[in-house]
Amino acid sequence: THFGFEDVGVDEKEGRVKQVFENVADSYDVMNDFMSGGLHRYWKDQLLDMSAAASMASIIRRQAQQTQTQASIISNEGHHDDNARLRILDVAGGTGDVSFRFLEAAGCIERARSSGEDPISVTVCDINPEMLRVGEARARKKYGSTLITESKALSFVEGNAQNLKDFEDNSFDLYTIAFGLRNVTDVDKGLEEAYRVLKPGGRFMCLEFSQVADPWLRQIYDGYSFAVIPEMGELIANDRASYQYLVESIRKFSTQEELLSRMDKVGFHLTKYTNLTGGIVAIHEGWKP
Ligand code: SAM
Repeated sequence: THFGFEDVGVDEKEGRVKQVFENVADSYDVMNDFMSGGLHRYWKDQLLDMSAAASMASIIRRQAQQTQTQASIISNEGHHDDNARLRILDVAGGTGDVSFRFLEAAGCIERARSSGEDPISVTVCDINPEMLRVGEARARKKYGSTLITESKALSFVEGNAQNLKDFEDNSFDLYTIAFGLRNVTDVDKGLEEAYRVLKPGGRFMCLEFSQVADPWLRQIYDGYSFAVIPEMGELIANDRASYQYLVESIRKFSTQEELLSRMDKVGFHLTKYTNLTGGIVAIHEGWKP
């Protein structure tokens, strides 16, 4: 059974992608572990390490302490001054897996249980309200509500990567998109929007399935993806078609080099990629000059 994405028009693809993630939202986190054998955790940790967000957060925190009452983070009126924070936009953020890592690494979780201010803010943006709903419930359960309601270090915004209309130009320090870009109908439009919302000096990071070069690994990987994953989808989530789509969309997505040149075309500087697990996934990054 093919999901038939090849034959559909642009608008319809968007609708179907939405449907897929609506179907899988509740089982999404469990399935991630099952299908990747837990590897997605390692890949996301790599993204976090490479972003250096934890170091930046501790620098920001130290600076705030030096300027005493953290006046640079809290303005006189008691509002949170977002300019003093490291602002992260996590597009296609789904149920918040990547965003939660940033908050944990920046010490926001301990902070939420005591006092002080958060050195970063993370906005989870996703096209699918179901994924966001699951993500927000998960955040409240894991960390309580202060991060969302009081410090506003974590927020959830419905939006399309191709048209980030709720976000201003030059407003984020870091844009991340993990396992999301291949679902975006017009990837170049998605990259343009990432570029637009980043501040000059801001960084784009994309974690995505990529192409495996080694023929042996490729054979094992293909066998696993085409035979095992749709089967697991059926058994665990009772939804073969959605998981079939996931496998197909991975094979159709750009190679490492193709994505790199698309990023160059949009204007990113110092673009590069890092393969993980033999290129099963890659982290692409670039800077807005
Ligand atoms: N980043 C999360 C993670 O790594 O766990 C979720 C990844 S999930 C595989 C892909 C997400 O992309 C889904 O939540 C889906 O709703 C979202 N998505 C698909 N197309 C999108 C678009 N055009 N704009 C924003 N999000 C989109």
